[in-house]
Amino acid sequence: MISPQELIERAYAVLATRPGFVERQDQRQISLLLADCIEAGNSGAFEAPTGLGKSLACLIPAIACAMALGKRVVIATYTNVLAEQYWRHDLPLALSLFEPFLADLKGDEGPPALPACQFLIGRTRYACLAAGLETQPALIRDFQRRAEMGIESEFRSLAQRPARELSRLWGQISAPPVCPGKLCDHYEPCFYYKARRLAERAQVVITNHSVVLQDALLRRASDGEQTMLGKVDFAILDEAHDFVQAAQNGLEFELSAAKLATLESLAIRLFQSVGSAALTAQSVPEWEKLFRGYKAVLDGAQRGLVDLGMAVQNSGILAATPDSVWRHPQVQKSAIPERLEQAKAIATEVGAATLAFTGEARRQVTAWRDADKIGGEIAKSALDAVRGYATYLADYAYGCFALFDDTPDGIEGPGPLGPASVTHLSMTPDRGPVLRLDLIDFREPLRTLLWEKTPWACLSATLALDGSFDYFVRSTGAEPNFAEILPTPFDFPSQAALYLPPNGRIPDPTWARKSGEEEVYYDALARELRDIIQTMGGGVLALFHSRREMEAVYGRLGLESTRYPVYLQRATGASTTGDRFRENVHSSLFALRSFWTGFDAPGETLRCVTLVRVPFEVPVEPAALARMAYLQAEGLDPFAAHTLPLAKMMMRQGSGRLIRRTEDYGLIALLDPRLRSKRYGEEILENLPSGMRTFDDVVEAAAHLGIGALA
Ligand code: SF4
Repeated sequence: MISPQELIERAYAVLATRPGFVERQDQRQISLLLADCIEAGNSGAFEAPTGLGKSLACLIPAIACAMALGKRVVIATYTNVLAEQYWRHDLPLALSLFEPFLADLKGDEGPPALPACQFLIGRTRYACLAAGLETQPALIRDFQRRAEMGIESEFRSLAQRPARELSRLWGQISAPPVCPGKLCDHYEPCFYYKARRLAERAQVVITNHSVVLQDALLRRASDGEQTMLGKVDFAILDEAHDFVQAAQNGLEFELSAAKLATLESLAIRLFQSVGSAALTAQSVPEWEKLFRGYKAVLDGAQRGLVDLGMAVQNSGILAATPDSVWRHPQVQKSAIPERLEQAKAIATEVGAATLAFTGEARRQVTAWRDADKIGGEIAKSALDAVRGYATYLADYAYGCFALFDDTPDGIEGPGPLGPASVTHLSMTPDRGPVLRLDLIDFREPLRTLLWEKTPWACLSATLALDGSFDYFVRSTGAEPNFAEILPTPFDFPSQAALYLPPNGRIPDPTWARKSGEEEVYYDALARELRDIIQTMGGGVLALFHSRREMEAVYGRLGLESTRYPVYLQRATGASTTGDRFRENVHSSLFALRSFWTGFDAPGETLRCVTLVRVPFEVPVEPAALARMAYLQAEGLDPFAAHTLPLAKMMMRQGSGRLIRRTEDYGLIALLDPRLRSKRYGEEILENLPSGMRTFDDVVEAAAHLGIGALA
C-alpha cells in the first residue's frame, strides 16, 4: 500500500502544475511533518507564518493519512470564518490534488476513494427548521432549498436584508442550545443533526476549537459513551495561539437570570414532549406537579439572585482555589465572604432541584411503562426525550455544584475541572447579578480533556515567543514531542518599515493615568493618528486596547481636517465595519480586540497598522486578579510569566495584520512610548519580524516605502 508521505509528494507534484503556483518548500515540509505525527501518534507544535499556505499544508496530510492509513483527523480553528475558509476554499483544492492519480493507485478492490469530509460548528450557528417553520415559514423553506450547510453566514448572505433585520430574524430561527433531538419532527433533515451524524462517520472533519472542547466535555460527562466527533485519531488545532481563549470561554460556568430562564424553557419543552405520554398514562396531575415544583425552585433562585445583587451592589470574589489564591491580599481586597453562604445556597438548590427534576421525570415515565400505562413505543420516545434534556440539565447541575466545589452528599458528579479557579459575583448593567466560575490554570484541565486523550498538532503564525514554545506550553499544558519554527516567506525588510514617534511626543500612558493627565495623552494620540492618516492617504488600521481610549481619541481627531474617512468599530457589527474599510482604499478604521487577530485586509486597502498601546492585561477582573495571585503563589513573577508574554503575542498578532501576501507593503506604527523607555520594549520589538528599518518620522517612513497620500 502506498504511504501517506508518497501521497503527499504526488499531491504537491500536482499542485506544482496549477496556474499561479508558487514553490513553498516549508509548506510541503509541514505536510510531511504532520503526516509523520499522525502516523506515529506524536504531538507537535508548529509556528507556521502567514503566507505559507498553512491550511493546505494541514489538509493534504489529513487526506493522505485518511486514504493510506484509515486515520480520522479533526482540523479545528478558533474562528468560524477560518473554518469556513477551510471548508469552502482549501478543502476542494486539496481534494482535487489527489484526483489525478487515484486511478494509478489501483489495489485489489480498485482505486481508493477520496475520504469523506464534513464541516461541523456549534449548534446555535445552525438554523432550526422547527423554530423557523413556526416563526418564519416562507423564509426557512427558501433557506432550506438554497443553503448548503444551513449555517448563520449562509443565512446572512442568502437572505439579503439589512444587518439589523438579519440579526432579528436569525434570533428567531437559530437552533436552541438544547432541543428534543430525535423526537423533533424535523430531526432527519435538521441541518445540525445531519452535520453531526456525518461528522461522526467522516474521515476528515473541519470544525472549531469550541466543538473540540464540547466534545471532550461530553466524553468526560458520559464516561466516553457519548461524543460529537466520534473516534478521533489526530487533532490539528489551527490558530492555536487562541486556544486558551477558547478554553476560557468553553470551560467557564455561569448562573444568571438568563441561564435560569433557559433552564425553565427547557423544562417546559420536556414537560410538553412527554405531555401526550402523561395523558395516555392518565398521570397528568403527577407530571404537572413535578414541573411546577421545579419551576418554583427556579423562580426562588431568580429572586435570590436579585436579593444578592441588591445586598452587594458591586462585583466581588466569593471563593478561590487553591487556598493560597484565596488568602492573597489582592484577592482578599475584592472578597465578599459575608455573601458566600447566600450565594452557595442558591447554587446548591438549583443544582439539586435540577438533578431531582430529571431523576423524577425518568422515574415517572419508567413507572408508567412498567405498569403498562403506556406502550413500548411511547415509553421509548418519552424516555429518549428525558434522556436528551437530562444530559444538558445534569451537566448544568454539576456546574452549579462546581461553583463552590460543594457537591451534596449522595451525589456523584464528575468533580472540578481543575485545581485552580475563582468564583465571583459580577454585577452587569444589562444582565444583572451573575455567579461565575473561571478557571485560572488550564494546564491540568486541558491535559485530562485533550492532550492525553488524542495526539495533536498545534499551529499558528504566532505560537512561539522569544524563539521558543515555553509560554505556549506553560499556559496550555500541551507538551509536544516535536516543535518547529518555520521562517516567514515574506521579505519584511523591503515590504515593511517600523515607525516609532520620537521620545516625548506622546506621554507615557501609565503616567497619564496616575497623574490624571489622560486628556493630554488622548490629545497627543489624536494628533499623531491624524498625521499618520494624512501621510498615508488613509488605509490605516488603528488597533486600540480599550473602547474608552478609542472613543476619546476618535472624538479628538478633528475629522473635518482630514480628507479621509475614519470608521469606528461600534459595539455591534464588526464584520460590516471591516467590509466598509476593505471597500474604500482611502478609509481608516479604529478597532478593538477582535481586529488584533484574524482580520484580513490584503492589498492596498491596508497600508499602515497602528498599535496604539501595548495591550497589557490590567488585573482588575476577578479572573485576572486570581491568576496573578496564583502565579505569585507558584513563585513566579506575574508580569514576566503572564502579562508580558501575552502582550508580546498580541503585538505580534496585531502587527501581523499588515503583510498578508508577497505583494503587500506598508508601515507598522507603534505609538506606545514605553517601547522606547522601558526595558521590556526591546523584548517586544525583538518579537516582531526582523530586518525592518525603523523611523521616527512618519513622512520619511512613508517615502522609504514609496507611499504617499493617494490622489
Ligand atoms: S432537531 Fe432540534 S435543532 Fe433540529 S430542527 Fe428539530 S428542534 Fe431544531
